[in-house]
Amino acid sequence: MTTSYTAPSTTADDIDLDALRAKYAHERNRRLRTDGTDQYVPATGEFGYYAKDPYTPRSEREPLTDTVEVLMIGGGFGGLVTAAKLREAGIESIRMMDEAGDFGGTWYWNRYPGIHCDIESYSYMPLLEEVGAVPNWRYAPGEEIRQHAIAIAQKYDLYRDTAFHTRVTELRWDDTDENWIVSTDRGDRMRARYVITSSGTLTQPKLPGIPGIDTFAGHTFHTSRWDYGYTGGTADRDLTGLADKRVAVVGTGATGVQIIPHLGRDAQQLFVFQRTPSSVDVRDQRPTDPDWAASLQPGWQRERMNNFLEIVSGERVEVDLTQDGWTSTASLQRQMVPGAVDETLTPAERDRVDELVDAQKMTEIRARVDAVVDDPETAELLKPWYRYMCKRPTFSDLYLQMFNRPNVTLVDTADHGGITRVTENAIVVGDIEYEVDCIIFATGFEVGKSGVLSGDLPVHGRNGVTLKEAWDDSPRTLHGVASNGFPNLLHLGALQNASAVNFAHILTEQAAHIAAILTRAGALGVHLVEPTREAEADWLDTIAATSRSNGAFLEACTPGYYNKEGMPTVRAQSYSPGPIAFHKLLRDWRSTDMADVLGTQS
Ligand code: NDP
Repeated sequence: MTTSYTAPSTTADDIDLDALRAKYAHERNRRLRTDGTDQYVPATGEFGYYAKDPYTPRSEREPLTDTVEVLMIGGGFGGLVTAAKLREAGIESIRMMDEAGDFGGTWYWNRYPGIHCDIESYSYMPLLEEVGAVPNWRYAPGEEIRQHAIAIAQKYDLYRDTAFHTRVTELRWDDTDENWIVSTDRGDRMRARYVITSSGTLTQPKLPGIPGIDTFAGHTFHTSRWDYGYTGGTADRDLTGLADKRVAVVGTGATGVQIIPHLGRDAQQLFVFQRTPSSVDVRDQRPTDPDWAASLQPGWQRERMNNFLEIVSGERVEVDLTQDGWTSTASLQRQMVPGAVDETLTPAERDRVDELVDAQKMTEIRARVDAVVDDPETAELLKPWYRYMCKRPTFSDLYLQMFNRPNVTLVDTADHGGITRVTENAIVVGDIEYEVDCIIFATGFEVGKSGVLSGDLPVHGRNGVTLKEAWDDSPRTLHGVASNGFPNLLHLGALQNASAVNFAHILTEQAAHIAAILTRAGALGVHLVEPTREAEADWLDTIAATSRSNGAFLEACTPGYYNKEGMPTVRAQSYSPGPIAFHKLLRDWRSTDMADVLGTQS
């Protein structure tokens, strides 16, 4: 199904910014809760079954006690691309480790019906040319992406020495042997010369701490652990098990928007519990044109990725190869993702222009709701009243249409701060009870609660000092990749590095950077990769000096995980001039002798 909707033309003169700001503030305040991020409970402890792996049986194995050259923590795209680059550089001894039962990271865990990547697949899926693939769809379904992760692992022989269903519980540096002692929840006590971490940010499912949630006697699961045994079907086929079921879905974020069309189509009755509506723009999904695929010349993916990154990072380009909802809203993304800004304007002028463009975009998005949804009251509830990047923008040509179906009911919970309580057989909002057979939580993930950088995994560097102690809540890295006191430990992620909506591109650059450092260390016979304190301090100064605060923007946003549920803490996390400038800076740095991390050993 596609929509014939055409956005109305809105000019800046039509927009009353003061009135809009007041409306946004009113809607924000309606949703603001005093318990902030504490309103959620992690899917651990008594809720641990929400996080169990439903896809791969866990098999027993003997504890590992050997030594490898590189231990890679994380089998998602960051880990895979880095391992691929290391293989290309001639490193053979690589062990991939992941809590999941196979490769894929996000795409391993998230297999819900309707799952797609909302970034164009030709730019998002890494190493397409290396693997010899062209995606079948403009926006690839999750299973195609997961299979691509497996194809990368096969191509680079990364299954050879994996440890799946394994969680690292401690990393401890051994100064004598100059390697890391790695302990895991499988009783492993192995060693690695280098440890590289790519453990993601949105990985641990979270649940709303709704009173009575644990008393529900029907069926329940989180979207990132989809129970096809209960629902029947597959990610793209009929969920036949729901034909006689009353289903509740809690949450209307990027995940909710993708699953609801499938649940609405197949469930006997679907109740959608919404607290804040998403912005839902046109998707324009289409299969890949075989003639176009056949015409691609070597280097096509790099060119397309670069073009996309340049546009969404605010750089000027001659041509837009992608032409989608991300490239057309590049300037709006600046509030959340670093990048180039129009330096000919003062900050105040820039703020005003940005706010007007934002208001025009959001007016279009709200008008689309009216154009698609038949019932005016339902349409009103589905309109997002906040600025474009306050929440992850979504794209769908199926979602809003669902609310015209007789078996789909939208239940707005905004006035109650969410669902009031759950009973043995129902969800209660205010005084109204909705009896259901199944509750599906599309309630998202803990932010940054995994791996080394979160502090959840104890890392003991030189002299037993932990990363947490060394950083004292104020991370210190060189380029986000390595830290003084923690030799041969390298990280992927946005921290003090770059960020962009196509994060797979950022990971690809980080992979190349790490591979270049390890290659140079190998060539020079250097044993320790560790930034000097001076280099680290210089990088922090650079980040601070170039930092652009988005505190005021986040403060005014509707609550969500982008602004810590309405209570943002302002700290520059990544390099504000943006990924294009950052990648150039890294290239320039790589053309030096790398003494900043290889020290006097070289
Ligand atoms: P989100 O955190 O974005 O959404 C959680 C949803 O649960 C929100 O709608 C939230 O409402 C709702 N909710 C939470 N508590 C309650 C409650 N007590 N009562 C009612 N509703 C409640 O999680 P998602 O899984 O949707 O998305 C997480 C991220 O995953 C995205 O932002 C994106 O980065 C990524 N993603 C990417 C995709 C892609 O294609 N690239 C696809 C899907 C996800 P409220 O907004 O009011 O807090």
